[in-house]
Amino acid sequence: MRKEARAVVIGGGVIGCSILYHLTKLGWSDVLLLERDELTSGSTWHAAANIHGLHDNTNISRLQHYTMALYKELEKETGQGCGVFQPGSLYLAQTEEREHQLRLQAAKARLYGMKFFEISIEEARRLHPLVNFEGVRCVMYEPEGGNVDPSGVTNAYAVAARQRGAEIHRFTPVTATEQQGDGSWIVSTPKGEIRTQWIVNAAGLWGREVAALAGVELPLIPTEHQYFVTERIAEVAALDRRLPSVSDRDGEYYLRQEGDGLLIGAYEKSMKFWAEEGTPLDFAHDLFPDDLERIEENVMRAIERVPCLGEAGIKRVINGPMIWSPDSNVLMGPVPELEGYFCCNGIIPGFSQSGGIGLMAAQWIVEGEPRYDLFPWDLARFGSWATPAFTRARVADQYSHRFAIHFPNEERSAGRPLRTRPLYEQQKAMGAVFGLNAGWEHPLWFAATPGTEDTNGFTRQNWWEPVGEECRMLRERAGIIDISNFAKYLCKGPRAAEWLNAIFANHMPREAGHTCLTPLIGKRGGIAGDFTVTRLSDEEFLIFGSGMAERYHSRFFKQVPLPDGTEFTSVTEKLCGFNVAGPLSRRLLQELTETSLENEDFPFMKSRKITLAGVEVLALRLSFTGDLGWELYCRQEDQVQLYQALLKAGETFGAGPVGSRALMSLRLEKGYGSWSRDFGPEYWPHEVGLDHLCRTEKSFLNRDAATAVLAMAKREELFLLHLEEEDVARSNADATGGEPIFRKGEAIGRVTSGAYGYSVKMSLALGFVRNAGPGDQVEVMVLGRPHRATILAEPPFDAEGKRLRG
Ligand SMILES: Cc1cc2nc3c(=O)[nH]c(=O)nc-3n(C[C@H](O)[C@H](O)[C@H](O)COP(=O)(O)OP(=O)(O)OC[C@H]3O[C@@H](n4cnc5c(N)ncnc54)[C@H](O)[C@@H]3O)c2cc1C
Repeated sequence: MRKEARAVVIGGGVIGCSILYHLTKLGWSDVLLLERDELTSGSTWHAAANIHGLHDNTNISRLQHYTMALYKELEKETGQGCGVFQPGSLYLAQTEEREHQLRLQAAKARLYGMKFFEISIEEARRLHPLVNFEGVRCVMYEPEGGNVDPSGVTNAYAVAARQRGAEIHRFTPVTATEQQGDGSWIVSTPKGEIRTQWIVNAAGLWGREVAALAGVELPLIPTEHQYFVTERIAEVAALDRRLPSVSDRDGEYYLRQEGDGLLIGAYEKSMKFWAEEGTPLDFAHDLFPDDLERIEENVMRAIERVPCLGEAGIKRVINGPMIWSPDSNVLMGPVPELEGYFCCNGIIPGFSQSGGIGLMAAQWIVEGEPRYDLFPWDLARFGSWATPAFTRARVADQYSHRFAIHFPNEERSAGRPLRTRPLYEQQKAMGAVFGLNAGWEHPLWFAATPGTEDTNGFTRQNWWEPVGEECRMLRERAGIIDISNFAKYLCKGPRAAEWLNAIFANHMPREAGHTCLTPLIGKRGGIAGDFTVTRLSDEEFLIFGSGMAERYHSRFFKQVPLPDGTEFTSVTEKLCGFNVAGPLSRRLLQELTETSLENEDFPFMKSRKITLAGVEVLALRLSFTGDLGWELYCRQEDQVQLYQALLKAGETFGAGPVGSRALMSLRLEKGYGSWSRDFGPEYWPHEVGLDHLCRTEKSFLNRDAATAVLAMAKREELFLLHLEEEDVARSNADATGGEPIFRKGEAIGRVTSGAYGYSVKMSLALGFVRNAGPGDQVEVMVLGRPHRATILAEPPFDAEGKRLRG
């Protein structure tokens, strides 16, 4: 066994082997994988190993397609069979919502050149004569859907990695991982120690235990999961071809051919956790006793759909463990608090995703950043706030709703409330409907009746009208928005300005009371973040960023050493914030302070510490609503007092509370982009209109990458689009993000966020388009159907910025 390796992968399941293979493919041949038992000894060996391409998230879809194509390549490369069967998959829609979901996915497939399209019921019946199509509204067909052989695939990755120089050691458990003073790691096994720069935790069911060796806690919890295979079914055996698999997600089961019988698996409502306190170290190639009663309801639905199943005997039952994260997506990426420690844990559809996960992990490790925006997979989306109780509640919810549709704007209630501010109870009593952001509860909108909850769907829902009222109130008078969930940081010290200038792309404000907007640039020159920085004094700055990205951004802040005597700390928990905006906001606030808020005394983009209703606040003259407004930050202890004073003063002006859903609509009227939706590491500064904030004449983090991309032509560009009212009225739906954009039948882009602009009475969307510009007529595939739209030259609200600066 080597004594040194560039990377040590812990775990020889399908994921560890794929990462090892992809590391070698990117040129790292001195890498090593350690497996405590045989390869495939965790969840991998007993998987049903179905493969699918489509996912609601576009990047995940692209990675699943990459994975499906890779298996055949691997077979060619290694000669090792992967048992790839691709008889296709039929996706059935029984409800209107499912139909919307599938149509949208089919439209996305056209945009990305994937095969997923509608077929007639007759065609579907011809492909799968054993299915009863009664009650099915539409069918989509994915010709490349199918299944693979789990150990064949795992071994193919292993063979290919070995051929490219990697070492694999079976029966070699990792017993300790210790970081050294120089940042390298010593990995201990009974067969000796290895020194490495990178540890990759791909220990599957034991991901928690391996992470704990390095002091890392992962929000993961295993559950049982069952499928069974039937005896020979005459009708199946009689066919001279393999049947496509059946994705009847409304029925909450999966079904495909296995030999001359069928395989049926289910995510049941009465799910069962396993090994909550820790996965036993002596568990390997083990299964649990059969418990088919638990999945009986799902199986009955499968029998209704495929009646011959009802007569079949059961040949084999598999009840095995799989390990889940709170949102059922993989937890991957470098652990922000450690150097050289990469996790890749909690993967549910391992066979649909193994290639994509391996590729992204290898790019991240070797090249410093994956090529796709992977925030939905990044482990940094959770922090220590994701407690075991929260994880347990969310996993129970995820498991039992595995095949449920996750609607745009949907907020699931499991495990909440978790993190609340002092105002929470009062806002609740005022009718606030809350959303979850980095664990925090924050008001999305205010319902007339306290206790109201969101309804969910792809069309306009119960919040649509009330949010409109909030928007109109703010645009006509004023509104008070709780913005406490922004991330907030304090940078203090004699060299604070120097350090911030070395991090951020824009020049930091040179004088106290001045504020700037600035991008943070990623390794590949894309937009890793957008921040507001205000200078409080010579040596003190307050910085505001995306709340949910706080842990993600901590990776970037670590990359430039803090000068001696300078501190950088998160004050997200300590500070609360309100945005008071709208044409009457100045008069409203002036009632509460002696400080003059007149334009000449308090101009746009300036900040001051002021006293409002007896509370010390930092006031910033800016607003994401695009209107006249101030952001006000106070100590958490003062939150209630300040809010009550604002509401009271607001009464005189007809102003009241506004939620963040209204904010998302208001900022679209002004064409403002938002991080993780319209801004992200895949997008170059000039593609999103932030190039003027990248001051390449100075040095900053990843400046060379920014300079390089800025020298290249835009690949596509972010524009605001106006959707034709008639089309929108017909579908009763606005764009929400992800919808493809076509022009004369050609796919030219996609929506990144959408909303109705209530004050301008326009259905709006921000989206990227290629070779198109203002005035062009395009089609946006809302609900998967074409909606005529025009690319706008300027935002419909206050294009000249008179309100903002007034
Ligand atoms: C019943 C069932 C059906 C499924 N069906 C499908 C399906 O149809 N399609 C699909 O895509 N997915 C399916 N899955 C999920 C799939 O099996 C998993 O996503 C996948 O196997 C996860 O692989 P992994 O490599 O992350 O983890 P694992 O397979 O758990 O591998 C982890 C490996 O790490 C090793 N290890 C642990 N600790 C150490 C240590 N200290 N030192 C060295 N090695 C260590 C273990 O021995 C193990 O081999 C199914 C799962 C179950 C349970």
